[in-house]
Amino acid sequence: MNVFGPVPSRRLGRSLGINNIPPKICSYACRYCQLGDALTMTTERRAFFEPEAIAAEVERKLAELKEKGERVDYLAFVPDGEPTLDARLGETARRLRTFSIPLAIITNASLLSDEAVRRELALFDWISLKVDGATEGIWRVIDRPHRLLSFDAIVEGIKRFRAAYGGHLETETMLVTGVNDGDEALLALASLLAEIAPSVCRLSSPTRPPACSDVRCCDEERLAASTAILGERGLDARLLNAYEGNDFVRTGDAREALLSILSVHPMRDDAIRLFLADVEDGDELLRQAVESGDIRVTSWRGGTFYARNLRKAAGRRG
Ligand code: SF4
Repeated sequence: MNVFGPVPSRRLGRSLGINNIPPKICSYACRYCQLGDALTMTTERRAFFEPEAIAAEVERKLAELKEKGERVDYLAFVPDGEPTLDARLGETARRLRTFSIPLAIITNASLLSDEAVRRELALFDWISLKVDGATEGIWRVIDRPHRLLSFDAIVEGIKRFRAAYGGHLETETMLVTGVNDGDEALLALASLLAEIAPSVCRLSSPTRPPACSDVRCCDEERLAASTAILGERGLDARLLNAYEGNDFVRTGDAREALLSILSVHPMRDDAIRLFLADVEDGDELLRQAVESGDIRVTSWRGGTFYARNLRKAAGRRG
């Protein structure tokens, strides 16, 4: 478990990130996942970390940030896996509500067929649900779900949740060329999203190295056309592809802070240099973290990206 940031977010302003899942435990193995290959795929909810410990760490970070005069807009669950797999999510959310800072969560929505998950998500003020396609075929190709999951049950669960939820609900769709960016796929997506009726539908295409090297990103033109197709159905469709900026805040030990962020949020070369700019021997710190295998470096579309080696963090070999 770790609490990190605040990190700049295109949707949440400056959010204090909460990672409530051990490295890369997820119900999906999305082709475009920026965190790398799935380490553990499961649909079983389990208790991972003590809610008291998460709340205590948030309290400590908030005190540190207050001292530095840093603002926090959201407490955001953005783990290196699927946050609703945490069986104590509701208990943790209830504890965090006492800080009077809005709670946000980004989920792949795969467990929304479970009434307990819907009940716990209702404790959040801001929710983003993944909806990458409107057909089972697209869902299977792009999200590569756990074999026990059912597309129809997820869609039904999303609709049930939507009907009862009064907070801010967004959907997020990652467009991959040749998979879900064709007109037919987008028209079907628009119909499904119109039924779900989110406040905002976000569309994006990968901006960081994807798990599968054959993933192709949509160009600006296709992204704009896709937004227009959703807009024609009366949806508030917005692009999520703009760079979020380099405004990462560091508290405590520089190496730990860097690894915590890189577990869930791969950083570009320029962002990492800025993050370490005032750390004595920052270059050396980075070099050692790469050399020891804690951080992996990837070249992608002309840029250099740094990410936590989650396999090593999880104590796996190979
Ligand atoms: S993108 Fe999210 S839902 Fe998909 S595999 Fe990665 S962590 Fe899981």
